[in-house]
Amino acid sequence: AKVLLTGGSGFIAAHVLDILLEHGFQVVTTVRSQEKGQRILEAHPGVPKEKLSFVIVEDVAKEGAFDEAVKSDPPFDYVIHTASPFHHKFTDPVTEILDPAIKGTTGILKAIKTSAPTVKRVVITSSFAALVNNKQHPKLYDESVWNPVTWEEASTERASTYRGSKTLAEKSAWEFVEKEKPNFDVATINPPLVYGPVVHYLNSLSSLNTSNERINDFIQGKAKDGLPPSGMYLWVDVRDVALAHVKAIEVAEAGGKRFFTVAGFFSNKAIVDAIRETHPEYAAKLPENGVDDIPADIYQIDNSRVRSVLGIQFRSLKESVGDTHLGRRTTVLEH
Ligand code: NDP
Repeated sequence: AKVLLTGGSGFIAAHVLDILLEHGFQVVTTVRSQEKGQRILEAHPGVPKEKLSFVIVEDVAKEGAFDEAVKSDPPFDYVIHTASPFHHKFTDPVTEILDPAIKGTTGILKAIKTSAPTVKRVVITSSFAALVNNKQHPKLYDESVWNPVTWEEASTERASTYRGSKTLAEKSAWEFVEKEKPNFDVATINPPLVYGPVVHYLNSLSSLNTSNERINDFIQGKAKDGLPPSGMYLWVDVRDVALAHVKAIEVAEAGGKRFFTVAGFFSNKAIVDAIRETHPEYAAKLPENGVDDIPADIYQIDNSRVRSVLGIQFRSLKESVGDTHLGRRTTVLEH
């Protein structure tokens, strides 16, 4: 079967791409430039072009961005849409974050409905950001929970922009399916902070993906004089997230469902301990003291749907943090 994977140059998507190839899929991935596409092909020597190729989609927010990319011969059976901005360095929240997330999602769904009638399922990388309610956490987070963020908040409060982008993008996908009744169904993968090996190409460590920055900061010695508050407490390994995306196209019952793809709780202290255990050579860069600041009365989490429907078994924090240096083309823990 043939899959269109958007944003193949990204941290999570690079793992999705590898698993798709391992599972025998033909893959066409979208990237923003010829150079980025070329890097992906170079990282997969010996894979024939019928198995792996790329098309350029410079900006997912542009009207009609995916109109050509969704057409292929032989035609696509599935689409995995991961491309969406994840950073906090924006100046304009609407054009830099919200538009690419929301219009990127509705745009690809429209293009598939119009021009790719063979597509049976679209898997969308959403986020725990689309569940979390920071103002009032529920007692339990599972797939029934939605972030109540509004467009107004997302476009005016910096701290709400990224989370709003993921929430409103995912909502627009479910609304699209309900209103347009396309030939395909949708499944969403909703991970919290994702850690783990970097297999995509990086020009430099400064272009490291956002969620691994925390680990990189610790090994650079940035918390040597004291650990900052964890701030967030849920995490998952990138390989488990990637496998969840692929399983979500392979497993028939995954259609129409959200998947809260979470491994468990972490604190900055737990990450530092995992680095110290797996990479004692960094001990001098790490803070010696620190407390586990996971609140005693923290909400519960339920990842049973991902385990039972998609068959995912989650890696431990120690394994994930320890393996964060195992990139094929770049080494985060080795700089
Ligand atoms: P990356 O920054 O590595 O990947 C983002 C990808 O989206 C890149 O391929 C990037 O291309 C592409 N992209 C961003 N904006 C545009 C645009 N306007 N037009 C075209 N392509 C664009 O981060 P991740 O791999 O972490 O993120 C992938 C997905 O996972 C996102 O949807 C993110 O929201 C989601 N996610 C990530 C989590 C995490 O902790 N990492 C947690 C939960 C969800 P380029 O590299 O060329 O800029």
